[in-house]
Amino acid sequence: MVRKFCPKCRTIQNMNVSDFKKIGKDKNNKDIEVIIKSYQCSVCHIFVQSEEDKAPIV
Ligand SMILES: [Zn+2]
Repeated sequence: MVRKFCPKCRTIQNMNVSDFKKIGKDKNNKDIEVIIKSYQCSVCHIFVQSEEDKAPIV
């Protein structure tokens, strides 16, 4: 379980993580996989933050 600071609860809470993938381009114009993770507070359900991970397509 991921725990992050929730600005609405004003404390550290467990986060629900949902991720989805999309295809993007790197700076050399090659296709890459972009994984976007969004963190949502498990208590008040507000969106807290999102992170992007980039991975080359093999
Ligand atoms: Zn919260």
